[in-house]
Amino acid sequence: MREKPQQQIAPIYHRRIGDIVVTAVSDGTLERTYEMMLGVPEDEAHKHLAAACRSSFVLSVNAFLIRSRDRLALVETGSGAYLGPTAGHLMANLEAAGVRPAEIDTILLTHMHPDHSAGLTDMTTGTANYANAELVVHENEPRHWFDDTAMGRGSEREKRLMFQQAREQTAPYRSRMRTFTKGEVLPGVTALPMPGHTPGHTGYLIESGGERLLIWGDVVHMPEVQVPRPEVSMVVDTDPAAAAASRRRVFDMAASERLLVTGMHLHFPGFAHVVREGAGHRLVSEAWRQTL
Ligand SMILES: [Zn+2]
Repeated sequence: MREKPQQQIAPIYHRRIGDIVVTAVSDGTLERTYEMMLGVPEDEAHKHLAAACRSSFVLSVNAFLIRSRDRLALVETGSGAYLGPTAGHLMANLEAAGVRPAEIDTILLTHMHPDHSAGLTDMTTGTANYANAELVVHENEPRHWFDDTAMGRGSEREKRLMFQQAREQTAPYRSRMRTFTKGEVLPGVTALPMPGHTPGHTGYLIESGGERLLIWGDVVHMPEVQVPRPEVSMVVDTDPAAAAASRRRVFDMAASERLLVTGMHLHFPGFAHVVREGAGHRLVSEAWRQTL
């Protein structure tokens, strides 16, 4: 008998922004629970989930290639071997997209959590997965995750998955790491700091030929709950109140400017618009197109 498929073929989606092509490449998915959330009663969180016709909190884990005329950048590196078998598929999916890791000249990180930076280095050999890439990140990320005092305050899980992971994953890149505070980081790519989730959490605004796309990192983890209720933060936020303030500010900007957005945990490929609805907001997914 013919075998039934057990998982997706490589999830890849291209979107043209002027002269730049942005490609969403999936690292996989993560199952999470209500306990991830702060500031919302459990029955209300599940009511939002039910209203979206979903039965569990499944998160996409996305990364994005940015192809401009003479650059090939990758935003995030996925989960590597840190978060179990449903994620950590970015390298295989890049290969399916026809991209060799050695071709990538720049890696932009929105922050140094394990679903974003844990695909930088192969820990079985200690070698960089991206042999020729410069690592570009907000200066507050290494400042925080490399700080022993901050690490001392973390739980055992935080010490291992956040602080230790950030240190060991970036180690082969130390001599080719560039930090920024804000502003243009690559031609057509501007860093917009959105602190709170982590101290250096940053979105990237891509602009070309009059078109714009905001890759907003982890402004949202649970879209069903946090888009209508932006005050809901995550237990993994280093500063939950600042994360909520950044989320409100970014939603407001995206809605006012009718910005196309995508994110690391919007359901793959995540391209959408934010529209105001009542006192809150709603995400409207963009239609799929066969040709660019
Ligand atoms: Zn994340």
